[in-house]
Amino acid sequence: MANAVKGVIAGAKGAPVSVETVLVPDPGPDEALVRIQACGVCHTDLHYREGAITNDFPFLLGHEASGIVEKIGPNVTNVAPGDFVILAWRAPCGTCRSCLRGRPWYCFASRNAQQKMTRQDGTPLSAALGIGAFAELALVAAGQAVKVNPAARPEAAGLVGCGIMAGLGAAINTAGVSRGDSVAVIGCGGVGNAAIAGAKLAGAHTIIGVDVDDRKLEWAKQFGATHTINSRHTDPVQAIRDLTGGNGVNVAIEAVGRPETYTQAFYARDHAGTVVLVGVPSPEMKIELPLLEVFGRGGALKSSWYGDCLPTRDFPMFIDLYLQGRLDLERFVSETITLDKVEEAFHKMERGEVLRSVVVF
Ligand SMILES: [Zn+2]
Ligand SMILES: [Zn+2]
Repeated sequence: MANAVKGVIAGAKGAPVSVETVLVPDPGPDEALVRIQACGVCHTDLHYREGAITNDFPFLLGHEASGIVEKIGPNVTNVAPGDFVILAWRAPCGTCRSCLRGRPWYCFASRNAQQKMTRQDGTPLSAALGIGAFAELALVAAGQAVKVNPAARPEAAGLVGCGIMAGLGAAINTAGVSRGDSVAVIGCGGVGNAAIAGAKLAGAHTIIGVDVDDRKLEWAKQFGATHTINSRHTDPVQAIRDLTGGNGVNVAIEAVGRPETYTQAFYARDHAGTVVLVGVPSPEMKIELPLLEVFGRGGALKSSWYGDCLPTRDFPMFIDLYLQGRLDLERFVSETITLDKVEEAFHKMERGEVLRSVVVF
């Protein structure tokens, strides 16, 4: 049986999204049907709408979500109806070459639901990041539904499913920030500020937020930046060196995804420091660096995919830290909106007015 619900669809490249009726099948083997309670509006949804990810229109958008398991299909043992879950776009397969090497956060065959959600006329919808949660119900692989403490507010919890996890994980999992480290984060939107919060949680001593927008630098301070630099007026590399005894930071996190800001991160770190790229570049971007500097500065140049997270390990932990008052997830929720306001939320995001708009159901 299919369930008819309202969902946000991107029908054609660059066209505004629309709210339409979506048919969501009942769960088959290894699938779970989740009643969505909240879903954040992420840049990746906008990238889908712009055709910047794939050309498989129409898309059912939404992927930073939390909700209650409604039904499960045969063979499902990790969740039961009534469980409060965060949806993950990484559900490690357990059998690919990466899972078998004990690195499931690099899984190359992450699981998704086998059945498709469709338009009323039967047109299959491509679910954003294998989720599609700007809808009252979402069908996912059961492994994508990660059970967490139901005391968490759904609006805040859902954000851990994507952007906030990416930032927290860039600092904690990819960079391995630890007590006493100095960290710079370039780009203080949702992901960058989550990296700042992650660096603070991990015990960093100096945390420098860099952005061109004073409003975002103000947010950075609230999340734990000890210093901020407006790189529109100040050379961030020199300013970061000045704040670190002339040396640069142990860890520079690039949360923009542009060659200029990556170059800043590269030169702003201390010898043998680490650069982590968590901002997502676009296909035409290129970078040129003196190879002798790449060699001579040593250290590590890393990329962070989804914060190198293992959802079953990391989501419950971050929700517990939030419930203990040690991680301010609520601060990422700039506003709550209804399903028909997603297009408007994209424009607010483009103008940098919000960290996250969150659709509530
Ligand atoms: Zn795998
Ligand atoms: Zn996202």
